[in-house]
Amino acid sequence: QYDPNETVIEKDKTSKMAIKQVPYERANATFVTLARNSELYKLLPSIRAVEDRFNHKYHYDWVFLNDEEFTDEFKTLVTALVSGKAQFGKIPKEHWSYPEYIDKNKAAAVRKQMKEKKIIYGDLESYRHMCRFESGFFYRHPLMENYRWYWRVEPEIQIFCDVDYDVFKYMEENNKTYGFTISIHEFRATIETLWDETKKFMAKFPQFVDKDNFMDWISDDKGETYNLCHFWSNLEIADMDFWRGEAYTKYFDHLDRAGGFFYERWGDAPIHSLAVALFLPKSKIHYFDNIGYKHSVYTQCPLNHDFRVQHKCHCVAKDDFTFRGYSCGKQYYEKMGLTKPNEWSKFT
Ligand code: GDP
Ligand code: MN
Repeated sequence: QYDPNETVIEKDKTSKMAIKQVPYERANATFVTLARNSELYKLLPSIRAVEDRFNHKYHYDWVFLNDEEFTDEFKTLVTALVSGKAQFGKIPKEHWSYPEYIDKNKAAAVRKQMKEKKIIYGDLESYRHMCRFESGFFYRHPLMENYRWYWRVEPEIQIFCDVDYDVFKYMEENNKTYGFTISIHEFRATIETLWDETKKFMAKFPQFVDKDNFMDWISDDKGETYNLCHFWSNLEIADMDFWRGEAYTKYFDHLDRAGGFFYERWGDAPIHSLAVALFLPKSKIHYFDNIGYKHSVYTQCPLNHDFRVQHKCHCVAKDDFTFRGYSCGKQYYEKMGLTKPNEWSKFT
């Protein structure tokens, strides 16, 4: 299915009998990677994996973004590996700096406290700009404005299986908005007030909360408290029209005003996830259970042996994180009303 090397035979909609040959039409999609120059050699294997497993067949473009100018070495090597058009953008200052209403002394004091408490990335200023950028600005970069769909790729990831269909067309044709591969619990200490701010937002704009939302997955008490479940945002395949729409734009502005990017350490993953779970019907969320993916210590590996053979996967099934306790995969299957893979209980 969706093989650009083959001509697609389609029934002509105007006359039932005739068939016409139409060329393969790709989605309006791009890969997007935020990275530093210093990460070049950790990024190249990620690109190679995505190209070998998927993009060599489709040649989708790739946008690279950085708060600094990319070096010539970075651009040359990356361009050599990407089979679509590789584009390099510098992030505008307004998307990577403090809003004027943020108290920088207070922000610095928080970083110091978080360092003492050994909260991961708690002491880093750059990490906070990164999370704010990935929450509210990547889809507004001029290079990204040309596209509707994106697949986010980070340095040091692995792709374990052949992805032999066009994931962007899949999203489009199945009316999906947000796709992910790994879900997990957030560290409470990084988002102490995120749920309170989200509740304030919902009270102010109840019209944005979808009646078929996925609240059950993010809250175990009907919205009273947040259970910390979120989609891991280092791999997202999604529709930027959602981020660009009114509900998310107002939500991001509300959160940005509240100051939690700097006074706490709010991540883009819980923020994206809360918006997806609340402002969309849950039918628009898609779990890509078939990619095979690793980022840092967590792995998705398809549990079915035959599937792994057919898709030339090179992961170890026992490393699969989906049904482990710290994941939110089991809850995802249950709240979404999906049937868990036959093998699941052997991998908890
Ligand atoms: P983690 O995945 O949460 O552990 O965080 P990472 O360190 O992987 O950062 C997430 C993404 O943002 C990766 O693609 C990084 O390359 C990128 N990133 C993080 N900090 C910076 C930064 O200061 N500048 C740039 N240009 N990219 C960054
Ligand atoms: Mn990362």
